[in-house]
Amino acid sequence: MNILVINCGSSSLKYQLINADTEEVLAKGLCERIGIDGGMHTYQPKGADKIKTQTDMPDHTKAVQLVLDALTDKNSGVIADLSEIDAVGHRIVHGGEKFSGSVLIDDEVLAAIEECNDLAPLHNPANLIGVNSCRKLMPNVPMVAVFDTAFHQTMPEKAYLYGIPYDYYRKYKVRRYGFHGTSHEYVANRTAEFLGKDIKDMKIIVCHLGNGASVSAVNGGKCVDTSMGLTPLEGLIMGTRSGDLDPAILEFIAGKENLSIREMLNVLNKKSGVLGLSDGVSSDFRDLGEAADSGNTRAKVALETYAYHVAKYIGSYVAAMNGVDAITFTAGVGENNISARAMIGEYLTYLGTRIDPARNNIRGEETIISEDGSKVTLLVIPTDEEMSIARQTVALCK
Ligand code: AMP
Repeated sequence: MNILVINCGSSSLKYQLINADTEEVLAKGLCERIGIDGGMHTYQPKGADKIKTQTDMPDHTKAVQLVLDALTDKNSGVIADLSEIDAVGHRIVHGGEKFSGSVLIDDEVLAAIEECNDLAPLHNPANLIGVNSCRKLMPNVPMVAVFDTAFHQTMPEKAYLYGIPYDYYRKYKVRRYGFHGTSHEYVANRTAEFLGKDIKDMKIIVCHLGNGASVSAVNGGKCVDTSMGLTPLEGLIMGTRSGDLDPAILEFIAGKENLSIREMLNVLNKKSGVLGLSDGVSSDFRDLGEAADSGNTRAKVALETYAYHVAKYIGSYVAAMNGVDAITFTAGVGENNISARAMIGEYLTYLGTRIDPARNNIRGEETIISEDGSKVTLLVIPTDEEMSIARQTVALCK
């Protein structure tokens, strides 16, 4: 079965065509600047160089058409015709409380996703446009929705309710939802498989540390808590997002700087995190590492503050689960940033675990990085959200 995995943003569309039987990625690509001048399509068939084509894409349907044309192109395509696409898996950011797992898309499902648009106004409408464009061009191909929030739906009330009037939950469903669920689920399962254990017997903390970052507590294979909230702004300090802060700061700074709530949220989403903390050095951890190494104090403190917050979340999830067996690092920083992992590891010795510097000296590999004999196993497991979406799509389409 060939599965087309689509991750559609407001002006971009990422895709992979995966042979689900061999788990080979046959081709992947990215359409950028959809609906804006200067559109760009990058297409990469397996084992070949990237092909970049400058072409305007007035809407997402045009972008999907370009993708399908590239996949079936006589010279650089990887399939003969569209009949070789057996199903499409769509990443959908917010499934609210309606979806606790992936679903086959029909009109009813689409209407239910639309009802969640309010909770993710930047993402869900774009995701839906992607679904509708694909349905228009491939009307007979089954489509599956895989939600970023679904894995976290097992959280108990005590983890997902905020300490605000219950009426806001009753009326508006204001609660913690959590995101990166596909990644947390995939990495937690791989952690158990890699260690040769049954996930039902394990307490795992997954640290998804990328440009966006979140931690989750997975007890017996079920998510019991996660750091992102109603939106992806809560939790860890991220590349440009602030993560947790005293909500009164909003009004305080807004008053001083004459900013609206919308403008303040823009500051917290786009200008904060390690970018803001480092006084503008960068949101990218490679740049920050280089700046810190060459003596930039603000970059150094940003990295220290980042690691400290990750360690505090880990500590709180050890408490939430009354123990932990494995702590796994994933995503761009978690998989590749040796010094960030080492800094976080410094805080974990109370758990009877220590990072082995030689084992930690790796990037992007499934590896145990803790010393032999550690009570808690520390690991790196590269995430693969696309493969997870493809597998879930197959499971629903077979
Ligand atoms: P993601 O959002 O998962 O793609 O993660 C992006 C972050 O991962 C950026 O801050 C990168 O600096 C960081 N990253 C990616 N590769 C490396 C690397 N080789 N060394 C250090 N940081 C890296």
